[in-house]
Order: sequence, then structure tokens, then C-alpha cells
Amino acid sequence: MKVYEKAPAKINLMLDVLRKREDGFHEVEMIMTMVDLADRLEMEELSRNTIVISSQAGYIPLDEKNLAFQAAKLIKERYKVDKGVYIHLDKKIPVAAGLAGGSSDAAAALRGLNRLWGLGIPLDELSRLGAELGSDVPFCVTGGTAIARGRGEQLEQIARPPQCWVILAKPPINVSTADVYGRFRLSQVEQHPSTEGMAAELAAGSFTGMCQQLGNVLESVTLKLHPEVEQLKESMRKLGADGVLMSGSGPTVFGLVSRESKVARIYNGLRGFCKEVYVVRMLT
Ligand code: ATP
Repeated sequence: MKVYEKAPAKINLMLDVLRKREDGFHEVEMIMTMVDLADRLEMEELSRNTIVISSQAGYIPLDEKNLAFQAAKLIKERYKVDKGVYIHLDKKIPVAAGLAGGSSDAAAALRGLNRLWGLGIPLDELSRLGAELGSDVPFCVTGGTAIARGRGEQLEQIARPPQCWVILAKPPINVSTADVYGRFRLSQVEQHPSTEGMAAELAAGSFTGMCQQLGNVLESVTLKLHPEVEQLKESMRKLGADGVLMSGSGPTVFGLVSRESKVARIYNGLRGFCKEVYVVRMLT
């Protein structure tokens, strides 16, 4: 038997850091939502009791460092499954981009193996299990649009964003999330985005309001380290995107666009100097 799962990329419509905790993690408040750029996982039971990962992407680990491997190992151990699995990852989401590709793969592996092995684990339980793998995994398990608090594991589902185009552009640099949080200083944040403000605009279905409320305090780190990310934001704005923000710890920048007629111009303008540009839809 085989099961398939899609693992969509996430973007942060807002990301705020409230404080640094004693355990070293940062207390965050974020609003996350999915876009229709997705990896695809194929999972097949193996007669041998092992976990095997393959992928066409040459640039991700295929051993126990792979987050889908870790998800399979965790669910096997916790639910005492004495079976093996072969997982093929068809990667479409750029890696280390701020789009939670690895976390979404882990989440999709949890959902898929729950079905493959008929474990009947409720989604909220799977989401809690996901928190052991990474801060973005719980949200990726449930999907939708949510306020994430704590380390990212306390989720509250809220109204989905209004439908629009999302243009993603990833400059050719890799950013480590851990490094960005390590360099983050609350005192250097000039303006905190408003969680309530963004949630209210989403509840009202206001595209313009959503664009006005975009904000990500991690830009204070990544934009200084990599000025090309700031330039990319500026170019997207000049080309006509209605709202522009860096996703997660970066370096991917996304532009929100309501009118289809603008999309081609922005895409072509960006492609002139940035190789990785994707035009996708908001998953609503
Ligand atoms: P986040 O937004 O959650 O911080 P990200 O988009 O910045 O995530 P990922 O694409 O998840 O970053 O990759 C981060 C690291 O995880 C990379 O160094 C990569 O080698 C490793 N990794 C492990 N498993 C995977 C996977 N299945 N897909 C992509 N990267 C993976």
C-alpha cells in the first residue's frame, strides 16, 4: 500500500518576538498561512523494519538528519510500530528559505504514516507530537491559518486570508534560522507588528488591511546581514506588489498582489536579477 501527502510551504504574515525565555528559546507570536507551493511525499510500507528516504533533490540530507526521517522514527517509537517505510520526497519548496519546507515534510510524514499504519491518531495529538521535531511542525500538521504562540506550538486557528497572488523570490543565499535568532536583539526592533491587528483584518476579509499589517521583527537581523534581501523587497514594491515582507528568518521575500494583470510584470522584473521566483496562490 502507498499513501501520498502534500507538504505546502508556509509564509508568515506577521512574526513578533516577545522575549527570550530561560530555556534559550524565544517567545514568539506569529500568523502563519499556507501557499500552494508544495513538496509531495510518497510513503510505502517496507517488509524490513527500517526507514528509507529518497529524493530527487541533491541538496538535502537523506539520513536521520532529514526531518521526514525523524518524523517516521518518532511515530514508530511512540506508537510501537514494528514496520518499515520507504519515503520519497519530491522537493519543490526551496531549502533553508524561511518557507518551512523541512517542517512541512515532517508534518506530511506524520499525517501520511498515521494513515498508512492505520493508527487513528487525532490531528491535535499529531500536532503535539510534531512539536518535538521543530517549532513550525505543529502548524504544518494542521495547516490553515493560525496564530502561533510560545515557541510556535500553541495554535489558534483564525480566518483565512483573502485570495490573492503570492510572488515568492529567494535570493541565492542560505540563512540559518538558529543563527538569525542567535543574533536577534529585542532592543533593535523599531516597530512590533500587531497580532490582533492582522487577525482583525483577516476576519474582515480586507486585502488592503492585510497588506498594511505585514511585519516581521526578524528583518532587523537578516536585512542587516544580507542587504540584497532589502533590495529585493524594494524591487518588489517598485514593481507594484501591494504588500511585501520577508518570510520567517528569510531570505525569501514574498509580495502579495490582488490584480492578476500586475503579476507577469512583477515576475518578469524580478527574474531579471533573481533566479528563483515563484508565482503561487494563497491556500484559502
Ligand atoms: P523554517 O522556516 O522552519 O526555519 P526553512 O525553510 O528556513 O525552515 P528548511 O527548508 O526546513 O528551512 O531547511 C532547514 C534545514 O533542514 C536545511 O539545512 C536542510 O538541510 C535540513 N532538512 C532536513 N530535512 C529536510 C527536508 N525534508 N527538506 C528540506 N530540508 C531539510
